[in-house]
Amino acid sequence: MIYDRVALLGLGLIASSMGHAMKAAGLAGEITGYARSAETRDIAREVGFCDRVCDRIADAVADADLVVLAVPVGAMGDVAAAMAPYLKPGATVTDVGSVKQAVVEAVSPHLPDGVHFIPGHPLAGTEESGPRSGFATLFRNRWCLLIDAEGTDPEAMARLRALWEGMGANVDVMDAAHHDVVLAVVSHTPHLIAYTMVGVAEHVRRVSDSEIIKYSASGFRDFTRIAASDPTMWRDVFLTNKDAVLDILGRFSEELFVLQRAIRTGDGQHLHDYFTRTRAIRRSIVEAGQDTAAPNFGRGGRDEA
Ligand code: NAP
Repeated sequence: MIYDRVALLGLGLIASSMGHAMKAAGLAGEITGYARSAETRDIAREVGFCDRVCDRIADAVADADLVVLAVPVGAMGDVAAAMAPYLKPGATVTDVGSVKQAVVEAVSPHLPDGVHFIPGHPLAGTEESGPRSGFATLFRNRWCLLIDAEGTDPEAMARLRALWEGMGANVDVMDAAHHDVVLAVVSHTPHLIAYTMVGVAEHVRRVSDSEIIKYSASGFRDFTRIAASDPTMWRDVFLTNKDAVLDILGRFSEELFVLQRAIRTGDGQHLHDYFTRTRAIRRSIVEAGQDTAAPNFGRGGRDEA
């Protein structure tokens, strides 16, 4: 057992997966949970990934050694303000938000002295959300990034690392600004492109709806899966990781113009060279064990944010 009591605030996909995973591996003595809506709390009681679901945030947080903020990034500050008065001295507070600088700025001011704040982000998810969508193996062999700041307590960090490793994740530690740039490249901008591509298909009237569905396995299907991700979560990601996403999007647009020009001028050599380089990147991802070479990308609905 790593923590005597863990409190999950927000009871959606990530929190419910953590509950299932902690129970499966016996990592917490007691898991408490709180969500803002009575409906979510009732479902969480029925599913049973917490030992106790509380109707008041104070009861969930009381005496917890670890408090996990598992709400959309834009709600982190309000939830932190609501729970902070009830924190046990010496407790660790973490979060699972997809953006890190904005969470640090929103949460830190509310935390009392003597509490350890170690932000985190598991790179694992699906396009599903809510308390029924979690499962114990979500984090297995996926990365969890923990954020190190000046003054982070090494013991608190080691314990949180052990929790994530106990849930099957590989842990890396980095600073918040670096995290946000990396995620803008590997997750946030690709999601925006998927949203855009699905939006484009909706506008192309030359292709009928039935043809879009029928022939979707040609590539479009993978865009639609990503574009089905939770609208609130992704709205908050783009609003809070604005600078990094706009930077990567600018570079993306420049590359797109170069490819557009190569197509227009019939520059096959440029296209071939470009696609040869991108193919090598794909191979290195498969070799790093981050995906399989299976034609369906081996995902079966898994994704990261
Ligand atoms: P989710 O399944 O949609 O669950 C969100 C939870 O937050 C729900 O319990 C919801 O409560 C609560 N919530 C929503 N808005 C709130 C507000 N304004 N104030 C208080 N509580 C609020 O979300 P999730 O996928 O678990 O995501 C949680 C966090 O993990 C997000 O910060 C996200 O960026 C991050 N994350 C997500 C993924 C992914 O792929 N999904 C991957 C890695 C990290 P009610 O049900 O009562 O409304």
